[in-house]
Amino acid sequence: MNKVFLKAGPVLEKIEAAGFEAYFVGGSVRDFLLEKEIADVDIATSANPEELKSIFSKTLDVGIEHGTVVVLFNGTPYEVTTYRTEAEYLDYRRPSEVQFIRSLEEDLKRRDFTMNAIAMDRKGRLIDPFNGKKDIQLKVIRTVGNPEDRFSEDALRMMRAVRFYSQLSFGIEKNTYRALSLMAHLLEKIAVERKLAEFKKLLAGRNRMMALRIIGETELYKYLPKMSSYRKELSSLPEYKADGLTEEEMWGLLACLFGVDEPNAELFYKSWKLPVKKTRRLLSILKWIHYRSKNEWGANSIYQAGRESALSAERIFNALKHIDINRHADSLLKLYSSLPIKDRSELQLTGNDLMSWYGKPPGPWIKEELEKAESAVLKGDIKNSNESIREWLMKCNWK
Ligand code: ATP
Ligand code: MG
Repeated sequence: MNKVFLKAGPVLEKIEAAGFEAYFVGGSVRDFLLEKEIADVDIATSANPEELKSIFSKTLDVGIEHGTVVVLFNGTPYEVTTYRTEAEYLDYRRPSEVQFIRSLEEDLKRRDFTMNAIAMDRKGRLIDPFNGKKDIQLKVIRTVGNPEDRFSEDALRMMRAVRFYSQLSFGIEKNTYRALSLMAHLLEKIAVERKLAEFKKLLAGRNRMMALRIIGETELYKYLPKMSSYRKELSSLPEYKADGLTEEEMWGLLACLFGVDEPNAELFYKSWKLPVKKTRRLLSILKWIHYRSKNEWGANSIYQAGRESALSAERIFNALKHIDINRHADSLLKLYSSLPIKDRSELQLTGNDLMSWYGKPPGPWIKEELEKAESAVLKGDIKNSNESIREWLMKCNWK
């Protein structure tokens, strides 16, 4: 058995020794059956949170209202969740209350897709009442039970279907697929933060271009932030070669494909609640893509853009032109590394130098002189040393 499960085995054993059931569940079992790397295991148990806390000496209440307790065992944290059902759903998003139960099968039944509704005991035996293993073999994403019901209980599951499609390159079962359009309007009720968490995973998935197309070909696009006018663009995504673009670069590619100007790109990212810093980086990348569409890179532009923005801009620009994203990366990096300075702070000149050389008080002239020297150093007209900058400035200003 996989070493992550072997290591966690004693946690299950301890719960069992106290008279309860405990199983591995969720993504870890799915990924194990897919022979993928497993980051961390999820554990489900018949013990309720209080009972769990009496079994282990070190626990943390992270999501106790949902029945999740973090158990620290030999220094490793494990999320252990009490079997539960989500009795009734309010507003298509949150259960009115969670009920702790003692039946594993009932717990598996509330899970979203058959591939995610498999439990495994510590000996590696599967409990798989919805034939999740078979669906994994068939490479199909299928809801547990009727998809329309399941999507109307929690509309986020529609986003999860498409993000798993992106990550796993599975197909989506016919009825499940049809329900994506039928129930898409319920996504309106879902908080942007929850949509974003799934969308980010979608953008990082291997099959993301096809997944974005599904967003455009079902009704989902209508209920995602600032996407409702871009059905055609979303459907066209598989035409582009984006292999290797980062998740962040994918956001840049989307804004370019949607043809939005800078203020609208900002609105797009804000409406998705991307972090301010990421938005700022993306807007800079977009600016340089715009530059790149009219110019070749030169010492000055690559210096102004900085290494990361220039590279990202180039990669996205290439993807848009249907060429290998890294086609010019080497020459761009070479140009960058040949720059005499990479940042203003490396310039061997300060405002204090200028004031003492000229004997003048501070003022806007300092910025002008600094920029003049910076540009001359960048062009290679002068060496980046305090002495040669001084000589050069004196010469310029005597003319
Ligand atoms: P990942 O590998 O990305 O973490 P995951 O399948 O583990 O994928 P999580 O969001 O960590 O996804 O959820 C853990 C498990 O909880 C899922 O496998 C599924 O069984 C269940 N689950 C999560 N979200 C939902 C939901 N919205 N509706 C029903 N079941 C869900
Ligand atoms: Mg998980």
